Amino acid sequence: MTTKSVDVLLVGAGAMSTTLGMLLKQLDPTLNISMVERLDSIAEESTDGWNNAGTGHAAYCELNYTPLKADGSIDTRKAFAINSAFEVSLQFWSYLVEQQALPSPRQFINSTPHQSFVWGEENVSFLRKRFETLSAHPAFADMEYSEDHAVLRQWMPLVMASRSPTDKVAGTRVRYGSDVDFGSLTRCMAQNLQQQPGFELLLNRSVTDLTQRTDGQWDVSLENSENGASENIRARFVFLGAGGGALPLLQKSGIAEGDGYGGFPVSGQWLVCKKPEIVKQHLAKVYGKAPIGAPPMSVPHLDTRIIDGEKALLFGPFAGFTTKFLKRGSHLDLLKSVRLNNIKPMLSVGMNNMDLTRYLIGEVMQSHTARVDALRKFYPQARNEDWTLAHAGQRVQIIKKNGENGGKLEFGTEVITSADNSLSALLGASPGASTAVSAMLGIIERCFAKQLASQAWRQKIRVMIPSYQQDLMQDTELLRQVRSRTLSVLQLDEEHADPKQRPAPDTTAPLQALAS
Ligand SMILES: Cc1cc2nc3c(=O)[nH]c(=O)nc-3n(C[C@H](O)[C@H](O)[C@H](O)COP(=O)(O)OP(=O)(O)OC[C@H]3O[C@@H](n4cnc5c(N)ncnc54)[C@H](O)[C@@H]3O)c2cc1C
Repeated sequence: MTTKSVDVLLVGAGAMSTTLGMLLKQLDPTLNISMVERLDSIAEESTDGWNNAGTGHAAYCELNYTPLKADGSIDTRKAFAINSAFEVSLQFWSYLVEQQALPSPRQFINSTPHQSFVWGEENVSFLRKRFETLSAHPAFADMEYSEDHAVLRQWMPLVMASRSPTDKVAGTRVRYGSDVDFGSLTRCMAQNLQQQPGFELLLNRSVTDLTQRTDGQWDVSLENSENGASENIRARFVFLGAGGGALPLLQKSGIAEGDGYGGFPVSGQWLVCKKPEIVKQHLAKVYGKAPIGAPPMSVPHLDTRIIDGEKALLFGPFAGFTTKFLKRGSHLDLLKSVRLNNIKPMLSVGMNNMDLTRYLIGEVMQSHTARVDALRKFYPQARNEDWTLAHAGQRVQIIKKNGENGGKLEFGTEVITSADNSLSALLGASPGASTAVSAMLGIIERCFAKQLASQAWRQKIRVMIPSYQQDLMQDTELLRQVRSRTLSVLQLDEEHADPKQRPAPDTTAPLQALAS
């Protein structure tokens, strides 16, 4: 078996590996990089447009990023961190568009107002407080708030249609929110990478094993699913960007830092509507509050989506229980991930989260009518026959050790890196692809620290990401400059947004007001 040597091996062709590949090739075009993918095309798992919600997570509309503190005030820490991280992604994508390394932004990002919508006295009071707290900061100063039915009808006609004028409701809006087709973005980035010398994409190759040599390099075994052949790649640095497949590979690497980690897979489903007469009446991502007991990733939202240029409405996600780590994975994935070093945390999480498991199983068992009933809370006039069920990607939530015998379930993302910085793996899926650039920069800072200390890399990184290592939440003048550029380059603000995308005017609104 021949072994070829590369500087960097990227495992998996999703948003994360591709982003890391783009960053590294921009920083040093002479790097030799291979990307291996088990499927026959790229971005087919969580990154594909239909497999995720495509929300450019900026904390404008996601209520779970701003929990209520015990003293009744709003905790904004997560919202600020996610907003900053998304600004980093927007800067990198803008740079790539300007360099013509990415095509027109319309092919992967579209201006879609981010709105929150709640009903009931308690939720309205929460949203008002959230608005007052967030909008006091320049990063959220453009957020609007209303309890006025007429205003809300303009913002979200489908959501407000046929509501009683006495209903206590409230909404917020940030006009320059975005819908991102992460599948398209990733395919465009991979296309650019493939045009560069020293980059190779190998499809139909599954990584089956990883062994570290005494010189610190990794010998990575691949199985070619087209001809059954075994192949080998030797790499100085390996990134396990295999999505749900990253945990088993981390375990195979045997690095001590991976001990004790387990995974809790959660599947997702959407209701999808492609009827043009309905789709054209909604242009927004409208996020609500998660039902009590629901995990954070099942916050319901009614979204405009533009995937591969096609417009649709999507509602969900409905979470579900599964034992697969990848959408096109095996039902044995969960069982096979059990190890001596993670059995205690996994059992502990299993026993302490029976409510969650019951909730997920209940979600899977729901009838179509029950799902559309959930949608009708957002869009009261929704009809069963206009919506079909589609399967989203898998999310493998992180289980980690907690004390001697315990385990805890986490809903975020975590990068695990070997002590010698020769291998990193990304686990978890939230806030996900929106913050891929920050997550991958974190890997570069740690694993390419020597190169990053050089004048050339430092200069280049500031060209790509002008706010690099500066706190956008503190430096509000820099925030203003950065945002003004990214909104303009990515065509996300009013001035550049496509007027054809706006929803049809709500001609029924005055009639409904009269009727009720
Ligand atoms: C229901 C749902 C909704 C979401 N909503 C959002 C959202 O609104 N906004 C957001 O920012 N993020 C969202 N996310 C998260 C986002 O989709 C992920 O964070 C992101 O796509 C992960 O990218 P990735 O490259 O790590 O993984 P993936 O896209 O899953 O790619 C991993 C790749 O590795 C390959 N692979 C696996 N094992 C092997 C192996 N052994 N050998 C070779 N290749 C392998 C897989 O085939 C796959 O192509 C959502 C996710 C889900 C599931």
